[in-house]
Amino acid sequence: MIYVVYGLIIFICLFIIIHLIAFIIFKRNFVPILMYHRVTDDVKPKELRYIEHKGSTLDLDSMKVKVDVFNKQMEYLKKKGYKTKHLSKEIINKEKKTVYLTFDDGYSDNYEFAYPILKQYNFQAVFFLTAGIIDKNEFMPIDENDKRKENRLLTWDEAKEMVNGGMQLGAHTLNHIWLTNDDVNIEEEIVGSKRLIEERLNIFVNTFAYPAGMYNEKAVEIVRNNFECAVITSRGSDFPNNNKDPYLLERETISSSDSMFMFKLKLFGIHRFLRKLKWLNKLRGVIKWLLRR
Ligand SMILES: [Zn+2]
Repeated sequence: MIYVVYGLIIFICLFIIIHLIAFIIFKRNFVPILMYHRVTDDVKPKELRYIEHKGSTLDLDSMKVKVDVFNKQMEYLKKKGYKTKHLSKEIINKEKKTVYLTFDDGYSDNYEFAYPILKQYNFQAVFFLTAGIIDKNEFMPIDENDKRKENRLLTWDEAKEMVNGGMQLGAHTLNHIWLTNDDVNIEEEIVGSKRLIEERLNIFVNTFAYPAGMYNEKAVEIVRNNFECAVITSRGSDFPNNNKDPYLLERETISSSDSMFMFKLKLFGIHRFLRKLKWLNKLRGVIKWLLRR
């Protein structure tokens, strides 16, 4: 019996040591790229948030980080000595204590609330604009039933002001379509969005974000031919641990429900490391299955 106990203790110790070593190796190459969408206090009560969109149920407000929460996150980064940079192909050469801040879609609250806070801490961020919708002064497809001014996108003037304030702009297609759809001209959506931002603001756009992180070989090929680097959303265990391909950079999603503790887990890479452990995902599946019974 005593040998079984000893065996078990040795197994647990080895298990922990192996994972610690794996984390240290992972951490050496980990570059945090944080993904935000909106920074706003315009959040609906939980029961009113869910809508049906493109065949799935979405929590409309899960991507809204409250203004004071965002401020606290930036304050923490500043206090800990993090610096921010523009996205470029150099991202794969990891620099110590560098964090990349990214915002998708181009909502006006990015200008109204996120931009002043970023300036206050002297941080830079990249804003991926849905260029065609901005140009037509329309609303995002997801907001078609809620066209209040709170849901409007940036204007070109606001975007220009942010560029002058040190921010970077990236492309995010013209109309926020899924690039895996067969019935859209994805070349036009990808390259057209880059051209439109460049023309309207007289800047060079070197980076791209795949809407909803959806891509296929053809989309990546077009992106490779037109940009220096591109970002996806956070992915499960099937995607490689580290960002080796500058055209498929995985990000850490910062959502409205994240506590400061969770923010730190995402910033330090612990959240991604755990997400990539296949055995942990299987265990999670078994626990969920047992709870449903
Ligand atoms: Zn998007």
